[in-house]
Amino acid sequence: MANKDYYQVLGVNKDASADEIKSAYRRLAKKYHPDLNKTPEAAEKFKEINEAYEVLGDDKKRANYDQFGSADGPQFSGAGGSGFSDFFGNGFSGGFSSGGFSSGFSDIFSDIFSAFGGDGRRTRVNERGEDINLAMKLSFEEAIFGVEKTILVNKIETCSSCSGTGAKNGTAFTTCPDCNGLGRVRIQQNTMFGTTIREGACPKCGGTGKIIRDKCEACGGKGYKKVQKEITVKIPAGIDDGQTVRMRGEGNAPRGKGIAGDLNIKIQVQNHKLFKRDGFDLMFDLYLPFTTLLLGGKVEIPLTKGKFTLDIKEGTQSGTTMRIKGKGVKVLNKDAYGDMLVTLKSEPPKKLSTVQRDLLEKLSESFTESDFPKYKDFKKSNQ
Ligand SMILES: [Zn+2]
Ligand SMILES: [Zn+2]
Repeated sequence: MANKDYYQVLGVNKDASADEIKSAYRRLAKKYHPDLNKTPEAAEKFKEINEAYEVLGDDKKRANYDQFGSADGPQFSGAGGSGFSDFFGNGFSGGFSSGGFSSGFSDIFSDIFSAFGGDGRRTRVNERGEDINLAMKLSFEEAIFGVEKTILVNKIETCSSCSGTGAKNGTAFTTCPDCNGLGRVRIQQNTMFGTTIREGACPKCGGTGKIIRDKCEACGGKGYKKVQKEITVKIPAGIDDGQTVRMRGEGNAPRGKGIAGDLNIKIQVQNHKLFKRDGFDLMFDLYLPFTTLLLGGKVEIPLTKGKFTLDIKEGTQSGTTMRIKGKGVKVLNKDAYGDMLVTLKSEPPKKLSTVQRDLLEKLSESFTESDFPKYKDFKKSNQ
């Protein structure tokens, strides 16, 4: 079940080059090839190596793996249409229901079964339960630092009393008389288009071919129950607005045999009063008195954690962006950080006193055209 660390499987570092990965793969593949290695664990190991190389040997897949981590933990899709959605096939269908049961296909299906009055186990023969799609709001800080949240989810779970069989402990099944145990029957339907006959899952036994003699009391013979479950969601540091945390197997249990669907949590991040986010970089505009940009000085600015003193050089242009390395957002599933970008803007006083005006006029007269080369260029090109 647990997804292996592919780097560990190949015995290389996370920053290994493509060539290093290739040669590690060749060496291990030779060592564990079932034709050459007859130890019992060789075949399994060989499979693992191939699986790891399939991902790490492909630049795009490797980048996705690096960014989004193993299939073990929460996974992400969306946001900027990265190639990652290929991993999952279809994205979101339909809107998010806030903790409610999704009224999906199988609900409609079980309604049909009810209509037929089948008193057997109403089972939709499927392989996988439905996904549950929810939305979660996070504060700006929760998104950049990560958070653990416990949510209540309405979901379908396999009945633990009967292990999903729908039969009371130890009681036997009998063959369904309607379909003779085949699980499929011809169903005549009268619709506005006339009478149609199609083959479908037997409504009496729900397609299982078996009838339960004594129903499980806990689930009424259905084999599954609607429950409200507390689920703890680990939101990794660095998640961004519009991304989705996917928790495998935490969705609805299937009505028949099979695996549970996924729980998909779409993240909505609230704005920060000062910072804006661009990927893993943070940015904001810092307005300073025009004299600070002219004369230079030290200005203390806030970071997500703590403070930082910016050293403004004399004669700094308005619009200059200063980059503070590593003070941005933590990169998802990586030990790396984005940067903080501070754009300096000059703020002139709205009004001048007579004294200030005189001083500024004197100051202005003290400059010559050569003090402003860009303006000089502009004038020259417009003559
Ligand atoms: Zn049960
Ligand atoms: Zn039947």
